[in-house]
Amino acid sequence: MNRLMDAIVKPIAGPGLELRKVPVPEPKAGEVLIKIHKTAICGTDVHIYNWDPWAAEHIKHPPMTIGHEYVGEIAKLGEGVTGLQVGQRVSGEGHLTCHRCRNCRSGNIQWCKDTVSVGVDRDGAFAEYVCIPATNVILIDESIDEDVVAFFDAFGNATHTALMFPLIGEDVLITGAGPIGIIAVGICKFAGARRVIITDINDYRLGLARNMGADVAVNTAKEDLTQIMREQGIREGFDVGLEMSGSEIAFKQMLSVMRTGGKISLLGIGNKPFTLDMNSIIGKGLTLQGIYGRKMDNWHQMLSMVQGGLDVSPVITHRMHYTQFEEGFAAMNSGKSGKVILDWTTKK
Ligand SMILES: [Zn+2]
Ligand SMILES: [Zn+2]
Repeated sequence: MNRLMDAIVKPIAGPGLELRKVPVPEPKAGEVLIKIHKTAICGTDVHIYNWDPWAAEHIKHPPMTIGHEYVGEIAKLGEGVTGLQVGQRVSGEGHLTCHRCRNCRSGNIQWCKDTVSVGVDRDGAFAEYVCIPATNVILIDESIDEDVVAFFDAFGNATHTALMFPLIGEDVLITGAGPIGIIAVGICKFAGARRVIITDINDYRLGLARNMGADVAVNTAKEDLTQIMREQGIREGFDVGLEMSGSEIAFKQMLSVMRTGGKISLLGIGNKPFTLDMNSIIGKGLTLQGIYGRKMDNWHQMLSMVQGGLDVSPVITHRMHYTQFEEGFAAMNSGKSGKVILDWTTKK
């Protein structure tokens, strides 16, 4: 079989993407072929589009299909796959792990040393079809809006970061109102935090964070965070911090406003090393936890939270056909976007 499909491809080691015809992949033994319904553009895809130093280091074999945030249905089962059926609604964990290392065996696949990433190390989901191992397939209840499931990958990063430490009754500071920070606002409120305050210097995205339920969305270029803490009755500092910006200034500000004994999850990756006064961590007895990817259990938590009433759709700002992907990437690069959803259910 030599059927062709549309795919958004990184054609060469350089900026830009191209809509191309490529062969429909054939599921190998243990793999599943998924027909794509909707995809979402991730910050990672924007790095790859722009061809920044991260992309130049990680995209080793162009031409390749990119994309890793998607929802679709099972189209074909590879040899030996059991327990799944053609037609089932699915998404997929984008990190393919070894199943043998100590972390994989203890259920911590997010720390596998031999991770292969869909849409980075192997062909991705910005196409009419994608192949992944059956063990990475996540069944999705038909009752859940596909536009939301399209970005469960990013929602999973937010869930992993937000739920690392207990939140009930706690005051939470989120630094960085990118899509993941905005989604984290909704999760923290849903999980029982008392106050959720988010900071950024992008007013458009702070507006989205307000729509998601932030108690205060603070533009730190214009407003004084300590003043806002007083107004909100946060006297001893924040109990939990979620660092989503990768900005040294934002991280240092977070350290300065944490309560002694506070806990911080770190997701944002800076583009250069930070200089730190270690006493701002040690003297305050802070706990810092690095976050990478998602735990498999986060998929279960997301499905449960959405079915329990958490609405993360306020982060969606653009919906378009996949042939308009250039517009989607321009929206992401403008900073005036939340999640951009691409529709693959119709041909144009
Ligand atoms: Zn992503
Ligand atoms: Zn492993």
